[in-house]
Amino acid sequence: MILDSPYLFAYCTALVAVLGLCMGSFLNCMAWRMTHGESVLRGRSHCTSCGHALGPLDLVPVLSWAFSRGKCRYCGEHVSWRYPATELLCAIVYVSIWLVYGFTIETIELIGFASVLLVLSLTDLDTYIIPNATIIAAIAIRALYLVATGLLGTGDALTLARDSLIGGVVIVIPVYVLSIVMDRVLGRNSLGGGDVKLLFVAGLYFGWVQCMFLIIVACILGLLLGAIVSRDSKYIPFGPAIALACWLCMLVGGQAVSWYLGLVGL
Ligand SMILES: [Zn+2]
Repeated sequence: MILDSPYLFAYCTALVAVLGLCMGSFLNCMAWRMTHGESVLRGRSHCTSCGHALGPLDLVPVLSWAFSRGKCRYCGEHVSWRYPATELLCAIVYVSIWLVYGFTIETIELIGFASVLLVLSLTDLDTYIIPNATIIAAIAIRALYLVATGLLGTGDALTLARDSLIGGVVIVIPVYVLSIVMDRVLGRNSLGGGDVKLLFVAGLYFGWVQCMFLIIVACILGLLLGAIVSRDSKYIPFGPAIALACWLCMLVGGQAVSWYLGLVGL
């Protein structure tokens, strides 16, 4: 088959990497606009310090930042390393999904979901908020995937949809109850509403069995991230931790579940 050609495979991998870099830049901008109350789709990209509109030369992922030595070309203001880092991360995430799922409809679905996860991680890091728009987008991508699966006949869409719903509900109920109990015990907000909604979405994508693994990983990552990045030690940026755990689940969720079910003899 032509798709088995190593050259075509390398070419596609390079394309996915470039797409990841460009989308990383776009998603960065989207997250910034969401947290600053600007329209997400309208208006040109501009320097966040001087407001100067950015031209094509300023918008090349990673390279623009590197060649301008991390400064705005117009006002000289420092531009955070987070921008090129996010672009690189987005490329790595896209390529990793492509390498695992190849030419499948799942690749498109999971790249879409990963993009949403990237945006909500950035907004959660900056403002401790996971915008509802990101949750809705993630659910819409899952729904579109299920419809496409049914139309193309690549899987049993009804069974997938039923398992999805069961996954979401089975995960969200104990997590929601736990968050209420923890709020009472700690006397303050523990798990944010956005975190609970995001775990519901994770249940939709991965089903409840993989979500058990996902929640454990997210808790460990949340504590680590909290120690590294949280400005206010009381709060843990759980959104990025859940997002990272989702990424891990996309790549090795199935194997991890078989492994730990094997450990307990199931
Ligand atoms: Zn500037």
